[in-house]
Amino acid sequence: ALRGNKGWAPAWRSPVPKNHYDVIIIGGGGHGLATAYYLVKEFGVTNVAVLEKGYIGSGNVGRNTTIIRSNYLLEGNNPFYELSMKLWEGLEQDFNFNAMVSQRGVLNLYHSDAQRDAYTRRGNAMRLHGVDADLLDRNAVRQMLPFLDFDNARFPIQGALMQRRGGTVRHDAVAWGYARGADSRGVDIIQNCEVTGIRRENGRVVGVETSQGFIGCGKLALAAAGNSTTVADMVDMKLPIESHVLQAFVSEGLKPFIDNVVTFGAGHFYVSQSDKGGLVFGGDIDGYNSYAQRGNLATVEHVAEAGVAMIPALSRVRVLRSWGGVMDMSMDGSPIIDRTPIDNLYLNAGWCYGGFKATPASGFCYAHLIARNEPHETGRAFRLDRFARGRMIDEKGVGSQPN
Ligand code: FAD
Repeated sequence: ALRGNKGWAPAWRSPVPKNHYDVIIIGGGGHGLATAYYLVKEFGVTNVAVLEKGYIGSGNVGRNTTIIRSNYLLEGNNPFYELSMKLWEGLEQDFNFNAMVSQRGVLNLYHSDAQRDAYTRRGNAMRLHGVDADLLDRNAVRQMLPFLDFDNARFPIQGALMQRRGGTVRHDAVAWGYARGADSRGVDIIQNCEVTGIRRENGRVVGVETSQGFIGCGKLALAAAGNSTTVADMVDMKLPIESHVLQAFVSEGLKPFIDNVVTFGAGHFYVSQSDKGGLVFGGDIDGYNSYAQRGNLATVEHVAEAGVAMIPALSRVRVLRSWGGVMDMSMDGSPIIDRTPIDNLYLNAGWCYGGFKATPASGFCYAHLIARNEPHETGRAFRLDRFARGRMIDEKGVGSQPN
C-alpha cells in the first residue's frame, strides 16, 4: 500500500495449461491447493495442475468464518482433526506465509445437565486422544465472557466445554500461502478454467474438457467442495451428498470485546471478533438444496434471534456484510477421502460446514492417497462405501456443527 498498490509481484504464475499432467486437481479451494502443495513437497509428485473455475479463494475457503478446532468425539474424526491442528500450529513456518493463526480458544456453551454430560463425554474422549479439553463452570465462563446473557431464564448458561488450542486462521491467507508454496515448486494453478466434462477410455480417466480446452492427465482428483455432486455427475457417479448454502455475517468494527470463539448451545449461533474489530458470526444452513452462493432472509432472522439470545448487546450492533457459500453436506456429517470405482479417479468431498479446519490434514491425507494409492492411516475411516456398509461416522452434532 505504501507504493500506491503498484509494482507488486504476483505470488503465483498464470501459466498456459500443458497438454498433459500426471495429476489434475479439480478445485482451487483450500483442499485442492493444500493437496497440490503436499503432493510436491512431501510425496515428490511434481507434474501437477490445479484447475479452478473462478479465482483462487472464490469458493468456501474465502467465505468461511475461519474457525479451527479438534474437539471431536468419534474415533475416525478425532485423530484426523488433531493432525490438522498440529499442522496448523506449524503451517506459517512451513509455507512461509503469515496466515494469522490465532489459538484464542473455542468455547461451546452448555445450558442443561444433559448437555453438560454430553460435553463431559466429548471432553474425556478428546483427552483420551491427547487433545486438550477443559470443562468450565458458569463462574469461569462469566469471568471470560461477562456480556453473555447468564440470566436468560429459558437457556441459562451452566458452563462450557473449552478447547484452548482452538481458534481462528485468516482464511484467504491459507489459500494464498498454499497457492504460492505449490506454484513455487512447479504446480500450475490455472484460474478461470472450468471443468465441463471428464473423458474416459477403457474405464479410466484420460483427461478433462475445460473452458480452456482438453487437458490430459494420469490421475484425476476431485476437490470441488459444494460442486462435488455436479463434477461427479460427469462420470455418472452419485454421491451421498447434498449441497446447501451456509451464510455468514460481519458487523461494524468494535473495540476488542470477544477474546475467544463462542458457540451457543441452545440455538444455531457462533461468533468471534476479527483483528479489524468486526464480529464474525453465523448459524445454521439454509434448509433447501442450492448451488447459489447466497442465502435467504429466514435464516438471517434465525441467526439474529439466536445471537441476541446469547449476547443481548448485539441488538445494538450494525451488520456490515453477509454472504453465502455452498456446502457439500454428507449424510453422516463426516467427510470422504477415498478412491472411487474408477481406477484413477479420487474423491475429496463431504466437508459439510466444517472443512476449513481440516484443510491441512485433508490436503496431506489426500496427497498421500493420490501418490501412493493407499489411504493415510489418519484418514482411513473416510471411505465412500461406508454409507452402503452402514459404517457411518455419525458426528453431525459436532462434526458438522457450523464452524
Ligand atoms: P472451496 O474453496 O469451495 O473450493 C472448491 C473449489 O472448486 C471452488 O473454488 C470452486 O470454484 C471450484 N470448482 C467447483 N467446480 C469446479 C469445476 N467444474 N471446475 C473447476 N473448478 C471448480 N469450516 C470450518 O472449519 N470453520 C469455519 O468457521 C467454517 N465456517 C464456514 C462459514 C461459511 C459461511 C461457509 C460457506 C463455510 C464454512 N466452513 C467452515 C466450511 C469450509 O469453508 C469448507 O468446508 C471448506 O472450505 C471446503 O473446502 P475448499 O476450501 O476446498 O472449498
